Amino acid sequence: MMTPLCQHPRVRIVSRHDGIEFVECLECGEVFDAEEFRDMEIESAPASDAPHRPDDA
Ligand SMILES: [Zn+2]
Repeated sequence: MMTPLCQHPRVRIVSRHDGIEFVECLECGEVFDAEEFRDMEIESAPASDAPHRPDDA
């Protein structure tokens, strides 16, 4: 089954190097620089590794 136009609806962080996060698409397996992917929803691990948001009231 081909997926000619994967929009990478779900990604996960696979590694982090020099402040740059690399994410992998869970659909097609493509790996990206997360910087290109800020608008995408990144599946964060349910651990306390999530970044703290300054607007946390
Ligand atoms: Zn994809």
